[in-house]
Amino acid sequence: MAAERLACVSVDLDSLHHYCRIHGLPESELPAGAAELVHAVALPRFLELCAGRSVPLTLFAVGEDLANERCARAVQQAHRAGAEVANHSGRHDYALTRRTREQMHLDVEQGETAIQEVTGARPWGFRAPGYTLTAALYQVLQDRGYRYDSSVFPAAPYWAAKAAVMGGMRLFGRRSSAVLDTPRVLLAPRQPYRPDPSSPYARGGGAVVELPITTAGVTRFPFIGTYAATLPRPAVRALYRSARGQPFFNFELHGIDLLDEADGIPPALARVQRDARVPVALKRARLRDVLGWLGDDYRLVTLAGAAETVGRTSGGV
Ligand SMILES: [Zn+2]
Repeated sequence: MAAERLACVSVDLDSLHHYCRIHGLPESELPAGAAELVHAVALPRFLELCAGRSVPLTLFAVGEDLANERCARAVQQAHRAGAEVANHSGRHDYALTRRTREQMHLDVEQGETAIQEVTGARPWGFRAPGYTLTAALYQVLQDRGYRYDSSVFPAAPYWAAKAAVMGGMRLFGRRSSAVLDTPRVLLAPRQPYRPDPSSPYARGGGAVVELPITTAGVTRFPFIGTYAATLPRPAVRALYRSARGQPFFNFELHGIDLLDEADGIPPALARVQRDARVPVALKRARLRDVLGWLGDDYRLVTLAGAAETVGRTSGGV
């Protein structure tokens, strides 16, 4: 890994009803058509943006979203255009890691089957809903022959903010379906590694390579689409500079990063999901900058491509 600097760009295709669930809003708030916005409107924007910069794209699709015909068609077209389609679980259950082993198997399989039906290819990568990985879930991925997982997100401010928001929501009597991860994740490696199957936030000899999501600088600030697309440009540039010393860069985006209220995101959701109020034109320009910087500093590959290189070049990265 040391010889080659690799970067990956991935988009989690969580449809808007998953955002309603995390913010404790009734899904009935979503008007007709909003369920397809991420796949039918945002995804083609990502494909266009990445094609313009020759960036290979990895998509994380949720199985149940693909039951919607427009969503399925959009993912199929992305696959045909060369995107890797990986598994973001069957139902985007934030409490997946609290289910039984059998339930986890079934949920991962549900995502896998839905993707295979749409693209004709089985997914080799997985990202857990809410970024939470446990020994039991890791074992499921090993058993199902996954080549990589990309759930580990060792971002201190993210963890602290999530703890505070969930505490605040409880205070006001609203329930989020989010699950707070163990603080052990903050000590997880920031570069690709082979996890210890009994404790996957630590190094070991597991068969499924972990490709952590990039955090910036000593503060471990989450360098993800939500911030890269909405913070002032000098702040994004400074964050990028503090992250680019790392030989592997895993830039994580969400479909909602290229949507705004004008696309039809309901006001009740935009009130709590504040990046939805930033115009798409501004977010697109910011993301175009970041993709340009990544292209200057790294060789851009899909996450499956990165996992293959990591697997080839080391037994324990
Ligand atoms: Zn997600």
